[in-house]
Amino acid sequence: MSAKGDMCYAWTNDAGIKGECGGAVTTLLKYALKNKIVDAVLTVEKGVDIYDPLPVFITDPADLDKCSGSLHCGTLLLPKLIQKYLDGAKDMKLAVTVKGCDAKAMYELAKRNKINMDNIFMIGLNCGGSVTPFTARTMIHDIYGINPDDVVKEEIDKGQFIIMLKDGTHKGISMDELEAKGLGRRLNCQRCETKIPRQADIACGNWGVVGDKAGKATFVEICSDKGAALFDAASKAGVIQSCAPDAKGLEIRGKIENVMVKMGLKNQKKQFDELGYGAKRLAFMEKETSRCLKCYTCIEQCPICSCTDCITKDPAIVTPGRIPPNFMFHMIRYAHVAPSCINCGQCQELCPMDIPNALFMHAMQTETQALFGFGKPGYDMILPALAYSEDKKDNGFVYFKMP
Ligand SMILES: Cc1cc2nc3c(=O)[nH]c(=O)nc-3n(C[C@H](O)[C@H](O)[C@H](O)COP(=O)(O)OP(=O)(O)OC[C@H]3O[C@@H](n4cnc5c(N)ncnc54)[C@H](O)[C@@H]3O)c2cc1C
Ligand code: SF4
Ligand code: SF4
Ligand code: SF4
Repeated sequence: MSAKGDMCYAWTNDAGIKGECGGAVTTLLKYALKNKIVDAVLTVEKGVDIYDPLPVFITDPADLDKCSGSLHCGTLLLPKLIQKYLDGAKDMKLAVTVKGCDAKAMYELAKRNKINMDNIFMIGLNCGGSVTPFTARTMIHDIYGINPDDVVKEEIDKGQFIIMLKDGTHKGISMDELEAKGLGRRLNCQRCETKIPRQADIACGNWGVVGDKAGKATFVEICSDKGAALFDAASKAGVIQSCAPDAKGLEIRGKIENVMVKMGLKNQKKQFDELGYGAKRLAFMEKETSRCLKCYTCIEQCPICSCTDCITKDPAIVTPGRIPPNFMFHMIRYAHVAPSCINCGQCQELCPMDIPNALFMHAMQTETQALFGFGKPGYDMILPALAYSEDKKDNGFVYFKMP
């Protein structure tokens, strides 16, 4: 019997699954769907090319085989899709693959009653970072000197972005080197400190798989009773096999996680310092946001923005038809969202005017957290510091009412 905190190496017994590592994730998803533990799976498959991760809603277990493997290029955030297009999984049981930012978004949406966590199975993927399709193509062309269309697979391993070509050769360049040139992982990924998504029911990855299982097994950490029950049922049915992790592997995994978290914190300090503080930062924010088209993408895509009546649409505050909107448009959103920002990067990656919204938000989130002393958003179900509280016992703020 598995329990929360247990760890193992796991691999599939299903010949149809060609997983990134041991195929444990696809096997668990397939088992859950086949046995009606869930009604559907929301995951990702390759679109037109490896730079195009496509969210897919799957109800036939056979369709899961083609989704196996990891896609590191893209800026996806699956929970917002559950809110927008699947009615927050209110009436269906859904399994979903989640990176750290997805898992945190899921918690924050659940706090705002936008997603029903009781109906969700989260299969977590450890995450070293992702690269935007544009950056991936640019760096492969400019730095690797290779046509991006000749690349058949990419992976991030041992600090390198590695590409495999049609002719079977591969080439890797260190992320540090790429990032020093302004390429590599997304800026929010460089700041990320959620490397193993323990908010999920099960967290899966390749870190720590050593010896004869290297490249053939998935490192699995059980993170909830729900996760334990699913893993045990799949094991009992014989679709997945597992063994105890190697002691050296355990140590390596712990060390890598530690180094990656420290690197995320170091990058936070670096990027926040570059942004400046006080009046300098405010002036920079005002200058950057003066390009705004008021397209509302940052609001639409943010997993925290969820007020039923958005105050930025109030004509008394933000004049209709005026572009750029006044600075107050952004200040309202920053003040409203920053305490709960989970650093998913959406409001920056998808902004048509390249306004560094996520950097502003993440900096403010970190600072408000230090100021008010509340926990990190996305890690538990405690309401945000500025949430409306009927009896005000959670905190003293009456700022907005949770919808
Ligand atoms: C962006 C990214 C970065 C990663 N970085 C690390 C790392 O640094 N260290 C580490 O230990 N592990 C990392 N992983 C996890 C690792 O690559 C494997 O996904 C994991 O070990 C599971 O292997 P598997 O063979 O069991 O999965 P598979 O059976 O191959 O299943 C993988 C599942 O993940 C889904 N998926 C693929 N790409 C995405 C995506 N972008 N977003 C959401 N779902 C997706 C697929 O649709 C499939 O359902 C990363 C994964 C991703 C997607
Ligand atoms: S923000 Fe963190 S969890 Fe999300 S893709 Fe980037 S590194 Fe991965
Ligand atoms: S403010 Fe931006 S980075 Fe923060 S949670 Fe919203 S979309 Fe993500
Ligand atoms: S996404 Fe960018 S351009 Fe669009 S409203 Fe937000 S800040 Fe303005």
